[in-house]
Amino acid sequence: MSTAQKDIRALTKEELKDFFATHNEAPFRGSQVYEWLWNKACYDFDDMTNLSKDQRALLRKHFVINHVEVSSLQRSKDGTIKNAIRLHDNLIVESVLIPVKQRTTACVSSQVGCSLDCEFCATASLKRMRNLNPDEIVDQVTTINQQSLLYFDRPLSNIVFMGMGEPLMNYNNVMKAVDKITDPETIGMSPKRITISTSGVSKMIKKMADDQVRCNLAVSLHSAIEEVRNKIMPFTRKFPLEELKEAIAYWYEKTGSRVTYEYVVWKGINDQQEDVNALVDFCKTTPSKVNLIEYNPTDNPHFLQADTAALNRYINTLERNRIPVTVRRSRGKDIDAACGQLANKKAPTA
Ligand code: SAH
Repeated sequence: MSTAQKDIRALTKEELKDFFATHNEAPFRGSQVYEWLWNKACYDFDDMTNLSKDQRALLRKHFVINHVEVSSLQRSKDGTIKNAIRLHDNLIVESVLIPVKQRTTACVSSQVGCSLDCEFCATASLKRMRNLNPDEIVDQVTTINQQSLLYFDRPLSNIVFMGMGEPLMNYNNVMKAVDKITDPETIGMSPKRITISTSGVSKMIKKMADDQVRCNLAVSLHSAIEEVRNKIMPFTRKFPLEELKEAIAYWYEKTGSRVTYEYVVWKGINDQQEDVNALVDFCKTTPSKVNLIEYNPTDNPHFLQADTAALNRYINTLERNRIPVTVRRSRGKDIDAACGQLANKKAPTA
């Protein structure tokens, strides 16, 4: 790659300052550029109006600004907005803005497609896969923040890594993005308002604990019975429940933060009392919460939302065992923006 093609957004503020210093310019110019890139979402050197013409030309000679674009936007009846985001290499990921009462949540993607193969998730069927780089993750947040201001007159309040992809299989880039999102000089969001959702990559949960990541952790459990989980999430054969349990205990010990289990109840798959009992046992090992998610249909005919009686069985048994449980209604279903529906109707194309 020639120098002229280097993406300026891969540089830290210090590196930008050094760049100006080595070109006999004042280092504070680097801070100005950083502010344009990261506070003002400026994607054109010519718009950096506090730099001289020569300084802008210098930047143009050495760098490009790779950034994402909203390629299409759909609004749901419930206010949810689904964005198809075009990356610099023309691949598409999806990011969703979810307004609930006074909060606005961004649901962002961490990969194009997904490394995993959950049978009930539309994203898992996508063939093309690459990791998103940190800037592509931050850009989704910036884009949704701007939409939140535009449509709801308030900034983004929460971020969930529950879009396309498995965040813990793109760990370094996700953490770099989190650093930038929580940096007071950029978006400055509290890590407590960010949730990282994983299908349960035990080794990486331990790494998150060792790295003292201050975000919330959610684990997509869906079954606490090994054979059932292996069937609906085939990759979990490599990630046994015992290891997961141990990793979550380690996370709690190191961070003091309760994990949330995401759980969908399906007809004939995990809707019996023995399934509930296994979940209760699993939850008892480490303080945790359960989030029962409404199933969003995909093209797979084997998965059907369980009936209300089965859901109530879960709720009652968990409550009796003093395990906090919430039920999450699906949002943006009419535009395929709900959990597990991203790219349901349209695969990303180059
Ligand atoms: N790979 C990560 C994050 C992406 S999915 C993870 O698995 O946690 C975000 C959540 O949506 C996960 O809990 C996932 O299990 C759930 N999900 C996937 N498909 C779904 C569907 N069709 N209906 C409801 N939830 C679904």
